[in-house]
Amino acid sequence: MKSLAILGSTGSIGTSTLEVVRHNKDKFRVEFLLANSNYQLMIEQCEEFQPKYIYLRSEEAKKSFLSNIGQLSNKTTLLSSDDEVEQVLGSEFIDTVVAAIVGFAGLKSVYHSLKNGKHVLLANKESYVVAGEFLNKISKESNSTIFPIDSEHSAIHQCLQGIESKDSISRLILTGSGGPFLKRNFNDFISITPQEAVAHPVWNMGEKISVDSSTMMNKCLEIIEARWLFDIEDIEVLIHPEGIVHSMVEFNDNSVIAQLSVPDMKIPIAHGLGFPKKIPSGADRLSLDKIKTLSFEKPDLKKFPALLLAKECLREGGTSFTILNAANEECVDAFLKGKITYLDIHKIISKVLDKSVITNVQEVEEFFEVDKQSRQETNSIIALD
Ligand code: NDP
Repeated sequence: MKSLAILGSTGSIGTSTLEVVRHNKDKFRVEFLLANSNYQLMIEQCEEFQPKYIYLRSEEAKKSFLSNIGQLSNKTTLLSSDDEVEQVLGSEFIDTVVAAIVGFAGLKSVYHSLKNGKHVLLANKESYVVAGEFLNKISKESNSTIFPIDSEHSAIHQCLQGIESKDSISRLILTGSGGPFLKRNFNDFISITPQEAVAHPVWNMGEKISVDSSTMMNKCLEIIEARWLFDIEDIEVLIHPEGIVHSMVEFNDNSVIAQLSVPDMKIPIAHGLGFPKKIPSGADRLSLDKIKTLSFEKPDLKKFPALLLAKECLREGGTSFTILNAANEECVDAFLKGKITYLDIHKIISKVLDKSVITNVQEVEEFFEVDKQSRQETNSIIALD
């Protein structure tokens, strides 16, 4: 039986992970659940899964949790600090960590899990975009593993089974549905509202990644994520509105292997949890006879210039990834709060990248410092805008 820590258990990936666990109760024991503020859902999850430990990052949520728990099993302890979280992530009774906190806020826990030799199922792409080379080094030193559960990277992982040498691969092809504005005229982008941006036509996800999908910043982050995971430089993006082919790998004989399923994150999560075995996911079966047509097109870089930033940052290296991510997180937040327009997101991110000096980072603390400075820089531009 594998023992799990699920970080971000109340979010879209966290709840899908628990759904996969429900279908495989004999294979997994949930030992640790962590979230930020949703104490009501945390209470329900505790009642059902009876973890050894839980943590809520928000102090207010901790208090509300304690005053509402009623008959919570005495098997569960509410941790009181980040230090205690680090101890639990380092303890022997956890072997697999599902990293599903949204944004840079997940970096510390991914770092501690890897440092302590855990098997990390990575959804929290922002941490890995920011610190991929560094986290790969930590993972190598501590004999831990980084296993993708982002659907595109899980697809590539599945396509690569049985392929022994990187030399056989000529190209990775990441697919993306194109988001809600694929067919919208660029002249109308100025009036896009937060409600429209979070309404993804194919996937049901948290707010931040939904906005990122609409701007294709999500695909930009995924190109960088794929670069760190698979060490391949030739990465192409193809728009595939049906969301059935989750990515492809082209080999040096020009054959292409693709992975297909209905668009449901339970499938890549089940692949990560069960690997090397296939386990039930609870997702629907794929009926290609009903879908009939699968279409592909090249992305429109005028409408979705965020895609260009991946190559720019991969060329620059160093702290450019941290700056990109921090500026994006602040801009998405400002857009959702109605402080900036949809088109401002890309404009401001580009300004922040242009103004920043790229350096190299050796220690985990330095990522936090660069992240903080980049957020300040972004917010000062937002304030002037
Ligand atoms: P959600 O917004 O749905 O959930 C985020 C989770 O993180 C919640 O449990 C939230 O707690 C918790 N959280 C937020 N901030 C903090 C913090 N500061 N400290 C601790 N916990 C925090 O996001 P998603 O599930 O959509 O996405 C999670 C990650 O997975 C992201 O990095 C995203 O890019 C990636 N991903 C998501 C996919 C999807 O289909 N949703 C697909 C592929 C990748 P609370 O609920 O209490 O606020």
